Amino acid sequence: DPLKALLDKHVAQQSATRRGPIESLTLETLKAGLESGAIDVFFQPKVAVPDRKLIGVEALVRWRGEDGKLIPPIAFVPVIEEHGLIDEMTRQVFEKSMVASAAWQKKGLDIKVAVNFSVDSLTRYEVFDLVIAAIAKEGIDPHSVIIEVTESRIMEDVAAPLEILTRLRMKGVGLAIDDYGTGASSMQQLKRIPFTELKIDRAFVDGAPQDEEARAMLESSVSLAKKLGLSTVAEGVETQAEWDLIAELGVDVVQGYFIAKPMPSDELLAWARQNGDLAS
Ligand code: C2E
Ligand code: MG
Ligand code: MG
Ligand code: MG
Repeated sequence: DPLKALLDKHVAQQSATRRGPIESLTLETLKAGLESGAIDVFFQPKVAVPDRKLIGVEALVRWRGEDGKLIPPIAFVPVIEEHGLIDEMTRQVFEKSMVASAAWQKKGLDIKVAVNFSVDSLTRYEVFDLVIAAIAKEGIDPHSVIIEVTESRIMEDVAAPLEILTRLRMKGVGLAIDDYGTGASSMQQLKRIPFTELKIDRAFVDGAPQDEEARAMLESSVSLAKKLGLSTVAEGVETQAEWDLIAELGVDVVQGYFIAKPMPSDELLAWARQNGDLAS
């Protein structure tokens, strides 16, 4: 089954980065780290197709180990979730993202910032409150903020986060369905949440120019998104051939190494200048 093969590839990609540092991240290490600034946030550009104009960034959490080395989210976010520390991590990531956003706006860069949330967090009103408070504190327009939730997690129970997601949307916050294609959601389920953006998982972009099945998945995702009035984002675009195919299929936005890797917030202005989004 070719779709199964694509999914297996996705899972293999994810677990390849999972091995390693996970054993050393004990509950004590995590708690201490959350209090001592181990949480760092990188930002990856999202550009419009086909003109490559910078329209936003995705905030991606990193754990800065004692030795200064960066640990990827796959190695510690699941552990943080397991220990009930996810709301504290999310608060830190979200606040840092709003601070960065305010700084960019001040320099004339009018872009959206997307932040990943665990679906669990979106069942707790404290999390809604902290989002609204951080947006207000930094004076950010809520329409410049996007919250991303992964398709597979949200489809386990659409009802639980529905109220908070709807309240956020009513405040103007955008809602993205992340890693689309890995969660087997129906259009019926998707329609219940007021999503604004659909992010196609990179497993379906990877190799799509040569791969009929991946290409079919891309096409059907774009057509579903259009029907639901959602903006489409292709994740993980790494090559010119993938970019060309994505453009041909009418995807709105690209995020991937072909454009830029995630970077610290202070590098984004220089990147934007080089990309032609800011006057030098
Ligand atoms: P995601 O939200 O789907 O984020 C996109 C991931 O794809 C990022 O990995 C990014 O670095 C990677 N990526 C982007 N373009 C390319 C490309 O062209 N090629 C390849 N090979 N990879 C690319 P990262 O930063 O390791 O994050 C992995 C996942 O961890 C995220 O997937 C998201 O689900 C989760 N995550 C990241 N930050 C947070 C956070 O603050 N909170 C929560 N709850 N989860 C987070
Ligand atoms: Mg994401
Ligand atoms: Mg994704
Ligand atoms: Mg992903």
